Amino acid sequence: MQLAQEKQQELMVCVVEKGSEVGAHILSGAVFEPRALNELFPDWKEKGAPLQTQVTGDDIYLLNSESNGIKLPGFSVPKTMHNDGNYIVSMGNVCRWLAEQAEQLGVEIFPGFPAQSVIYNDDGSVGGIITGDMGLDAEGNEKDSFMPGMELRAKYTVFAEGCRGHLGKELISKYALDADASPQHYGLGFKEIWDIDPAKHQEGLVVHTAGWPLDKDTTGGGYLYHAENNQVFVGLIVDLNYSNPHLSPFDEFGVINIILK
Ligand SMILES: Cc1cc2nc3c(=O)[nH]c(=O)nc-3n(C[C@H](O)[C@H](O)[C@H](O)COP(=O)(O)OP(=O)(O)OC[C@H]3O[C@@H](n4cnc5c(N)ncnc54)[C@H](O)[C@@H]3O)c2cc1C
Repeated sequence: MQLAQEKQQELMVCVVEKGSEVGAHILSGAVFEPRALNELFPDWKEKGAPLQTQVTGDDIYLLNSESNGIKLPGFSVPKTMHNDGNYIVSMGNVCRWLAEQAEQLGVEIFPGFPAQSVIYNDDGSVGGIITGDMGLDAEGNEKDSFMPGMELRAKYTVFAEGCRGHLGKELISKYALDADASPQHYGLGFKEIWDIDPAKHQEGLVVHTAGWPLDKDTTGGGYLYHAENNQVFVGLIVDLNYSNPHLSPFDEFGVINIILK
């Protein structure tokens, strides 16, 4: 839309979001790298983007047990784990702010509308999407509020459904988009937002952990980001390559909860 306005070209851009509002389905509390935002809105600070807490430090611990661990010296920390210049943000707030900027540029946003199926043109290319029917009961019968799905036809359709969207899976399979590509790998992640004792709070500190409570055959790790207002974003990610079939990632996170509390 920015380019279209620059070139005084008429353009219609439409976003469908299945959440009740933009940001409703976004996991809050992230360390955010602002490179893309700098390119899109170089004046994001003046525009009031909700990026308040700059990262002040990165600590990485290798944990052996619930009470024992070592802090890795800075030089041995992989480059990708350094967060200089990044921000600790509420992603929900960032997404809501981005939606406002998009609307101001004339983008039409339809929250509460899932893209249900793909429209294919006669030549086999993608021609748009059809949104889901609204007002169906649990058995799929039409209620008084029934509204059939809308066809949204477009020259370009961008699919951004997250890591395992149902339309994305269909498109990957139909166009063999995964041919000659590394297989995707997945993990399970949990995140909670806690109010903590102000005496223990260090705004801007990013902490990552490896090791306990995961065993040596299970990859993943914990994180704890000190945001503003004495809040921390705390959680655990467990890669889905674990070999113990009884491992319950959520219960492992529960162990961390008990120790930290
Ligand atoms: C526990 C955890 C912690 C993380 N922490 C960080 C972090 O600190 N920093 C970081 O950079 N990354 C982090 N990530 C990764 C980050 O969350 C993802 O990389 C990012 O959210 C991917 O963005 P996306 O827009 O591709 O998809 P998503 O954020 O999943 O957004 C997809 C959107 O599309 C909507 N949608 C899906 N299907 C449809 C449909 N059919 N019709 C209409 N709407 C649809 C959804 O409602 C959602 O709003 C974390 C991930 C997890 C799980």
